[in-house]
Amino acid sequence: METPPIPPWVFTVEPYKGESLSHFLGRFRRANYASSNELGQKTELGSVLARWEKFRFIPPPSQKQLEALALVVQLEVEQLRQMLPLQGVGMKHEPMRLCAACYVEIPCHKLEWQFKETRGCAHHQLRLLSECPNCKLRFPIPSTWLKGQCKRCLLSFAEMIVSQKPY
Ligand SMILES: [Zn+2]
Ligand SMILES: [Zn+2]
Repeated sequence: METPPIPPWVFTVEPYKGESLSHFLGRFRRANYASSNELGQKTELGSVLARWEKFRFIPPPSQKQLEALALVVQLEVEQLRQMLPLQGVGMKHEPMRLCAACYVEIPCHKLEWQFKETRGCAHHQLRLLSECPNCKLRFPIPSTWLKGQCKRCLLSFAEMIVSQKPY
């Protein structure tokens, strides 16, 4: 397979294991000083990207759309697919959820937290949080997660672990 030329402005960003596309897109944009609009234009996906960032995957991303995005973010289509739900998996659009114990190990929002069927973190045997346990602010969409803390009261995700009930 021929490798397409790398667009000169791209800083590549390696996806974390289990990372959601929303969280990845936010990191990619910040690494490349690009706005949502710019990324929408460069990929010619327009507002479709904004929908994906909110875990709205109906209609499901097409191969063509994924190829366009893969070219700009310099990943394989298969790597993008791993950040997307398999077809038929129901997604929870809100609230955004968090296993703080996972985040401390790998600083990213995991795709599986937004599956409708996910009840908790199987790895840590903890329930997921859907709001800051201190000030009750709901977590924003993962593409805007920057510092791993509540945007209002600045409680760190690490400090939220004690508020996660056993699952
Ligand atoms: Zn966990
Ligand atoms: Zn808070």
